[in-house]
Amino acid sequence: MEILKAFRFRLEPTDEQARKFSRYQGCMRFVWNKALALQKGRLDAGYPLLTYGELAKLLTLWRHSEEYGFLAVAPEHPLQWTLKFLMQSIAAAFDPANQGRFPTFKKKNRDEAGLRYPDAKQIKLDLLTKDKDGRNVFPKVFVPKIGWVKFRKSRTIDGTMKNATVTWHAGHWYISFQTEIEVPDPVVHPSTSEVGIDRGVVHLLALSDGSFFDAPGWFRRYEAKVAWEMRKLSRMRKFSKHWHKQVARIGRLHAHIANARRDFLHKASTTISQTHAMVFVENLSVKNMTKSAKGTKENPGRNVRAKSGLNKAILDQGWSMFQTFLTYKLDWSGGRLEEVPAPYTSLTCPVPECGHKSKANRVSQSKFQCEKCGFAENADTVGATNVLRAGLAQFACSPV
Ligand SMILES: [Zn+2]
Repeated sequence: MEILKAFRFRLEPTDEQARKFSRYQGCMRFVWNKALALQKGRLDAGYPLLTYGELAKLLTLWRHSEEYGFLAVAPEHPLQWTLKFLMQSIAAAFDPANQGRFPTFKKKNRDEAGLRYPDAKQIKLDLLTKDKDGRNVFPKVFVPKIGWVKFRKSRTIDGTMKNATVTWHAGHWYISFQTEIEVPDPVVHPSTSEVGIDRGVVHLLALSDGSFFDAPGWFRRYEAKVAWEMRKLSRMRKFSKHWHKQVARIGRLHAHIANARRDFLHKASTTISQTHAMVFVENLSVKNMTKSAKGTKENPGRNVRAKSGLNKAILDQGWSMFQTFLTYKLDWSGGRLEEVPAPYTSLTCPVPECGHKSKANRVSQSKFQCEKCGFAENADTVGATNVLRAGLAQFACSPV
């Protein structure tokens, strides 16, 4: 079985190289807007759309013309890819099965598309991290019409490279490689265990086997930093030079948080997918989460409240990403992820012959004690156990 994998790394271009990247992006935007205007004009006049082949021929003419000759500085393939992508977007807008939005004109500094190099043969890698004198150096990637660009290789690149895309985000340039990997056809998961996962109030993730994943400490520090920089921003004159700089700084900070969050969720999903064959998660709306994070009147525990706020901040924007990671990792390893509706997860007694459901069962944010049978356990673990039970009832034949 062949699967596609993506690897994204931060580039360290020289100023000259960065200028070229933005110039090429400008060319792409120009080609997109010009071709879109042409197609719109034809639609309005009742003419058939130009085909991709016709657009590509026009592109060659433009590149050789006096008026649009500036396009010749940009690499050809990303420009052609822009046209292909435009045609796909137009087709999607007219596809009754999957109606997309009709493509719109691109503005500078907004919705910048990535520079896609569709032909991997043009991309070369130099992964040496020591020069001939033994000094540490950045690995380099060869990009057409740019040259060798340093990048931060934060993980190993597996598989056969299919294409590369250069993007600009929050003050930095990134390159993503898409590779194709041959993986053995699945596969029976080495483990046969089943587990339920619940988004805890005290713990970030609780598993029905009693283990937890906790919010990493860096998150709190980043959050404090963002708040601090936001306060600074609020004291600045809007649209002044300092204000713009501060906005960019906050953007970079957010990008950092997003990267660190992704990293953390990758690690957690890898661990879980390697340990368990069948994973159940609660089909839980964000609204419910907000409610449970508020705490109870009797037990507003400041620490708990701060913690649950932190968990919420991480998972509100990461839960679907976490599910995506878990789904494909389980697919690779022959496991399976299922979503189950599981209301009142942390209020219901998980003892099969009891099942008593009451708010009083939750003695505190972290402690569950059934008022009927006396069963006591960590409240987040109880939630996860109930997710597992609901999942098994719905999807499997073996009892808990
Ligand atoms: Zn009970």
